[in-house]
Amino acid sequence: MQYYICAWVTGPTAQSNREGIDAIINEALEWERRSGATFEAEKTAIIHFTPKAYKSEQEPFTIKGQTVEPKDHVKILGVIMDTRLKYKEHIARAAAKGLEAAMELKRLRGLSPATARQLFTSTVAPVVDYASNVWMHAFKDKAIGPINRVQRVGAQAIVGTFLTVATSVAEAEAHIATAQCRFWRRAVKIWTDIHTLPETNPLRRNTARIRKFRRFHRSPLYQVADVLKDIEMETLETINPFTLAPWEERMQTEIRGASETQTEAGGSMQIAVSSSARNELVGFGGVFQKQPPRYKKPRVKTFSVTLGVRLEQNPYSGELAAMAHALSKLYGLKRYRITLLTSNKAAALTLRNPRQQSGQEHVCQIYKSIKRLRRNGNQITICWIPTSEDNKLLGLAKEQARAATREDATPYTELPRMKSTTLNIARSQVGTSKALPETVGKHSKRVDAALPGKHTRQLYDRLSWKEASVLAQLRTGMARLNGYLYRINAAQTDQCACGQARETVEHFLFRCRKWTTYRTEMLQCTNTHRGNMSFFLGGKSPSDDQNWTPNLQAVRASIRFAIATGRLDAA
Ligand SMILES: [Zn+2]
Repeated sequence: MQYYICAWVTGPTAQSNREGIDAIINEALEWERRSGATFEAEKTAIIHFTPKAYKSEQEPFTIKGQTVEPKDHVKILGVIMDTRLKYKEHIARAAAKGLEAAMELKRLRGLSPATARQLFTSTVAPVVDYASNVWMHAFKDKAIGPINRVQRVGAQAIVGTFLTVATSVAEAEAHIATAQCRFWRRAVKIWTDIHTLPETNPLRRNTARIRKFRRFHRSPLYQVADVLKDIEMETLETINPFTLAPWEERMQTEIRGASETQTEAGGSMQIAVSSSARNELVGFGGVFQKQPPRYKKPRVKTFSVTLGVRLEQNPYSGELAAMAHALSKLYGLKRYRITLLTSNKAAALTLRNPRQQSGQEHVCQIYKSIKRLRRNGNQITICWIPTSEDNKLLGLAKEQARAATREDATPYTELPRMKSTTLNIARSQVGTSKALPETVGKHSKRVDAALPGKHTRQLYDRLSWKEASVLAQLRTGMARLNGYLYRINAAQTDQCACGQARETVEHFLFRCRKWTTYRTEMLQCTNTHRGNMSFFLGGKSPSDDQNWTPNLQAVRASIRFAIATGRLDAA
């Protein structure tokens, strides 16, 4: 068995750090003697992290008679750390490994764009993104190029754009997130996650320090903390690593109609809960229907609670809160058969298998109440009933929930904010710019004013790779046509073989006389949009309104035309 020990020493001077390191080495050797483990001096690495180089840092240490020279970078848990913490080596290596993975993906010819995109997300992006939270603040200037290359090769594997296409255009065509955008998503997630850690966790206690502006020794998460400073994170719910101990019995949820049968010993109780989200509020309501043993008619009682604002709570947390509230009210109940009805499947499933997730505090409360009720000889069943099944009690509960979210309702409970809701808000806040950079993609912008947009998936996903690559060439303008080939010195002239004009995408699609016979299908698609490049390539032209959607039939016709001519085939 191999163990790795990682020790950190901090101090005001290099000399004091030296003393600290020597002390740790001695302690480790002491432990080696006691435990029977062996340290290998040649595998030991020492590194000084410092903004400036000092002479004393070059001096070697002596471990078991061997000298160990301080290194200028070491690998810790797969991250290459350098003395200045600039992460240049790490980012270069991440890009190289990502490129390798992207090339592998490219070699798998014959994948549909949808499959290739999925593979990109699951096999290429994770290689690049590993531990990005540690180094994303250093992802700028020269570090960007190599990672953007991975993006372009990925886009080529997905839709067949040329490598010369600008990164942001290629990303838009392939419908993949930019590297920067992926890093930010992960950073926002970790920043939110840290705030849900229990107070006993040192990371949770340090969030205030991370948020503080410093000129030096700034936390890698400072940037993220600063962007999200207006989002209230301090009152986030706490989420523990586990909700219930592994041996604790899980609640069974049944998916069936509520049973009306009564136990002989006691009475029966049906509780229906419901939540509502409207008017920027979240609330819940419910009904108790109690049937004591010797009474003829059941007694009905309702409740309605405004939980909080929509920015902090959601219908799912509302449903769990409703259950927790209802069960806590059953104090003193004995030998009852209790059925809890809900139409929220996610909440019912959570109760069956609670995990490390949002809404955990409510789940803990529910389990606590259930335990107490069981001790008093009650039986409890949780029932999920789909909304489509008309249930009288659930209908009543819904009315109560809606009353809790009427326009003039004010929340009177101070509850912790839900992580899932906060995370969504935080993510939308850092949504990177929704436009292509000004300096790139002149042709693309002329073809499609809606870039980057979701419609590109619609355009490409059902095409074969060959069809996709034909479409990508025409949409980006970087195609095997002389107009472009001449620009990259791959053709003698930019003129079309017909001798009439420059061989541009427009000339090729609509005007070149050489291909007239192939255009019948395209002409049949429309009378009004003839010669409209945006229309035939699935793009939005500036004159299109908000309700514009690409005309897939026309796009198909253009692709078939281009393939029939054979003009775009690789020589
Ligand atoms: Zn021509």
